Amino acid sequence: MGRVNPRTKPSVAGTAGKSESRRMSNADRSAYFARREAAKILRRVLEGDAHRRAVASIKSLVYAPSVRNKKGTFALVCKTLKYLPIIKEVLEAADLLSNKWKRQKELIYVIMYDILLGQKTPLAGDAEKFLMRQQSALQSVVTQLLSKRKANNIEDLIARGDNPGVSRPRFIRVNTLKMDVHAAIQELGKRYAVQKDDMVPDLLVLPPGSDLHDHPLVADGSIFMQGKASSMVAVALDPKPGWEVLDACSAPGNKTVHLASLMNGKGRIIACELNENRVKRLQHTIELSGASNIEVLHGDFLALDPKDPSLSKVRAILLDPSCSGSGTAAARLDHLLPSHVEGKSSGDDHERLDKLAAFQRKALAHAFSFPAVERIVYSTCSIHQVENEDVVQSLLHLAESHGFQLETPFPQWQRRGLPVFAGANHLLRTDPIEDKEGFFIALFKKQNTTHPFPQISSRDKSSRNHGGNIRNSRAVACLPTSMFKMWMHAHSKRTRRRKIHTPSETRTRS
Ligand code: SAM
Repeated sequence: MGRVNPRTKPSVAGTAGKSESRRMSNADRSAYFARREAAKILRRVLEGDAHRRAVASIKSLVYAPSVRNKKGTFALVCKTLKYLPIIKEVLEAADLLSNKWKRQKELIYVIMYDILLGQKTPLAGDAEKFLMRQQSALQSVVTQLLSKRKANNIEDLIARGDNPGVSRPRFIRVNTLKMDVHAAIQELGKRYAVQKDDMVPDLLVLPPGSDLHDHPLVADGSIFMQGKASSMVAVALDPKPGWEVLDACSAPGNKTVHLASLMNGKGRIIACELNENRVKRLQHTIELSGASNIEVLHGDFLALDPKDPSLSKVRAILLDPSCSGSGTAAARLDHLLPSHVEGKSSGDDHERLDKLAAFQRKALAHAFSFPAVERIVYSTCSIHQVENEDVVQSLLHLAESHGFQLETPFPQWQRRGLPVFAGANHLLRTDPIEDKEGFFIALFKKQNTTHPFPQISSRDKSSRNHGGNIRNSRAVACLPTSMFKMWMHAHSKRTRRRKIHTPSETRTRS
């Protein structure tokens, strides 16, 4: 068995891989690499969580092309995270890790899961052998802990986070640039029960658990695995073939290529993205989609000059800025992360949310200033009022001064904005529990004639005439779920009437 050279900076995957793996059976080799791949992903996820930095979700890290055993790796990451508090406690009490192993702690965590709760058979690999030699010491720590806490087994010791138990249908968006919907239904129907979504065109619904990550139609970009709420955003913008459209914050590009599909590949799409690494992902998505009318702009949307002649014909803007991602936390498995388990994830977020909301307001304000723009969609995958209704409300007067009004995307959709201002019933929300993803969509449309803002719908008017308040309006007819109520409560006392800066004021300040 190869040895790790102590002078070589150890990587999570270890350096002894090749010589070790040569002597293993196929099953052992596959498990050996799955543990190392799981450790790499765990390191990224834990580092991001520790610094309260958004990293890609566990799922998207596992489904990167470089990960071979996706199912095994995913299961291992999730199980290790689930038992991480107890794994750490046992390791600390046993105090047997030298610095060398501490530097590879994520791999140690993964192996600890296997030794304490998973496979009891001998495991191949240097780190594995090290821990197996310590097995009786580890076991005696576990026994002490169990008796101290009067628990029967390790399961009992785990302080489990709230797992919303998300089991949702698999949504598939057909990339009509490459394949028509009928052909996609026929092809997917060979293996799955496929239905058309009742609201979003070109969207198919497959049973929960349908795993299409390795499907050839996904691999060649004929279909995209895209959630329903995410697929509603480009449809809400409703760009026409031949238009010039700006996707302000575009990577990884799911909505950008959806725009291209809705425009039949005709017209011009400018996809702006600030982050260099994410620009690469964006380019990959565009290539995969086969769209040839998308120009990638690597830069800051806030720094784009609306008077630039190359942007003078932009008629629609899709603004899907960075957000807390709280609406997709369950799907991202954030409940498994230490910050959630330790209860740090809600109370300490106000500062971060305020920063995000400040950027979101600047970006939306900037979108209004493009001279030819007639339609703007502002969307987030957040459930927080501060990133959603508050952002929209704070810019209503600026929107009005540019001739925009709120319109109602998908009027047939029941769940609308939180009723915090008259007109919030134009906004669209999806619920993280009931719809399995929490999204928010606001659609601004330029009017031929200017109306005072907010536009009072007939429903709002009638509720006022009857002495009602906005709580009687349609926004409340679709009652918020418990999750909404929780956030409404948390934010109800926070008044957020901020001065709106024009884009030029904003830029000189930043
Ligand atoms: N619309 C994308 C999709 O559906 O695939 C997701 C967009 S993601 C929520 C937000 C993106 O905005 C991130 O990739 C982030 O790097 C980018 N971003 C953040 N600040 C930006 C800025 N000032 N200008 C342009 N892009 C920015």
